[in-house]
Amino acid sequence: MPMQWIRRFAQGYRTFRQNYFEEHQRLFHELRSGQEPKVMLVACCDSRVEPAIILDSEPGDLFIVRNIANLIPPYEPDSHRHGTSAALEFAVNNLGVNHVVVMGHAECGGIAAALAGEFGTATEFIGPWVSSIGPLRDAVIDEAGSRPASEQQRLLEQRSIVHSLENLATFPFVSQRMAEGELFIHGWYFDIHTGDLLAYDPEAGRFGPLPF
Ligand SMILES: [Zn+2]
Repeated sequence: MPMQWIRRFAQGYRTFRQNYFEEHQRLFHELRSGQEPKVMLVACCDSRVEPAIILDSEPGDLFIVRNIANLIPPYEPDSHRHGTSAALEFAVNNLGVNHVVVMGHAECGGIAAALAGEFGTATEFIGPWVSSIGPLRDAVIDEAGSRPASEQQRLLEQRSIVHSLENLATFPFVSQRMAEGELFIHGWYFDIHTGDLLAYDPEAGRFGPLPF
């Protein structure tokens, strides 16, 4: 019965059209002339981590890119097809967002597989994509290899967010706007178990309650 799943969303669209779209006519009217989101969000593809619901946002609020394990790749200006870097460039240079948030999460399958070293050469695209956190993975195993797997995974999930923030600052158009005080970067971590949303505190070097 595979078609039932797509029918479900066709019906979901009809519900949206009748309810949400009608109830938000003014918003959709305003959005016709363009988008002016102030925040870009980098989230995981994971179906359990739905940014618009977690952050209670409306259309037009968030410029979102989702990828495997919510990674910001390093700045690599070459002829390859860098989807996440292209989204970042558009958000910063064209939309002029004031914030970029990297939102990771607990129980991330991409991070779990990176930790287990599962991707290796067995995948065409996933292995190279998550390879940027290979050194972080090795460091976590060195430091915490004897601790429970769940702790190692949480450590790698959170360190990978910090690593993405470091990669963000290697993009010249990001670092320039940060230096001008026009752009701020944030690392957030959604805990599926508890529903908590934590933020990275660069001074303390750890994740804690949202400071805002
Ligand atoms: Zn994930």
